[in-house]
Amino acid sequence: MKTEDNLNKASITPSIKTQYRNFPMVPRVIFGSGCFSQLGDVLLPMRKSSEAPFIFLVDDFFENEAFVSRVPLMFNDEIIFISADEEPKTAQVDALVNRIRENYSELPSGIIGIGGGTLLDLAKAVAILLNNKGLAEEYQGWDLVNKPALYHVGIPTISGTGAEVSRTTVLLGPEKKLGINSDYTTYDQVLLDPDFTKTVPKEQWFYTGMDCFIHCVESLTGTYLNAFSQSYGEKAMELCEEVFLEDIPAEESRDKLMMASWHGGMSIAYSQVGIAHAMSYGLSYLLGVKHGIGNCLVFQHLEEFYPEGVALFKKMLKKHNIQLPTGICAGLTQNDFDVMINVSFGLEALWENALGSDWKRIMTPERLQAMFQKI
Ligand code: ZN
Repeated sequence: MKTEDNLNKASITPSIKTQYRNFPMVPRVIFGSGCFSQLGDVLLPMRKSSEAPFIFLVDDFFENEAFVSRVPLMFNDEIIFISADEEPKTAQVDALVNRIRENYSELPSGIIGIGGGTLLDLAKAVAILLNNKGLAEEYQGWDLVNKPALYHVGIPTISGTGAEVSRTTVLLGPEKKLGINSDYTTYDQVLLDPDFTKTVPKEQWFYTGMDCFIHCVESLTGTYLNAFSQSYGEKAMELCEEVFLEDIPAEESRDKLMMASWHGGMSIAYSQVGIAHAMSYGLSYLLGVKHGIGNCLVFQHLEEFYPEGVALFKKMLKKHNIQLPTGICAGLTQNDFDVMINVSFGLEALWENALGSDWKRIMTPERLQAMFQKI
């Protein structure tokens, strides 16, 4: 996901010496089946004192004794289970930050996010807000964070969003759906344990995996493409095709999709996503459609912009026997369409990446509305 990561190209002014982005990356990562058991060893040296807990923000899908017994809790550490049924919100971040501040005399040693894109984004935002004054909504945008976040660790339990590598945390605020894009957003440590993805329901596996696939298509066909993005995007695309179009053993498939997510995230980090993401943000803002399925709902209708990608996508849908819901935009009012169009067009970099600098002449509000009406 994690779209508006970077305005790479937009920051380049031809008449002035080219300015390239100085891009933060995750400095430490562990990959491998069962590596979650190493988490205690990773956290121990980062513990500030016995009064400064680690706070684990965990998808409530894992709210069971078997999971809790595996979390390396010490002293006053706490697990907070959170539902990922809805996209993460700025008010939710503020409430978590207040709760943690009120419950502990010291700032935590760190925040550990365990879950899909929603939990990974919430954990990043909470780590930032615990060390920066004010409300989460004040930091939605580019490079508005002044002080480093608390130490934060990301542990994805589903593959595809790329939230584990991105320098943004996409939040639904009172006025917009937009990321907190900053050099401090990126995780300090990521732990990639493919075993977590064993229990993902099939449709969710597909939709979230397609988020990665669409990252690749939008990055590789975009005008912002460069060798950095391309090298990651091509690898991620190759892995997606193996996972979704070939019959490979389940364990290999889990490993490969986890790496596809990582590489897809790296690819868009140094380029940008495109039309499916811009429209999916509109759907999500107005109707609360979740990111992965929202991308799929839009992408199926984008043949004219991404012919090869959409053909592959339809093959994948068929192979896995996935039926996308229909009639999502039936019964919407003109005002509803205007809201979605405004949210979508607000993400200018995505359109510029997809259609070039004169995108406004190619994509008019009327044309965009007709595209939404197909969904
Ligand atoms: Zn995405």
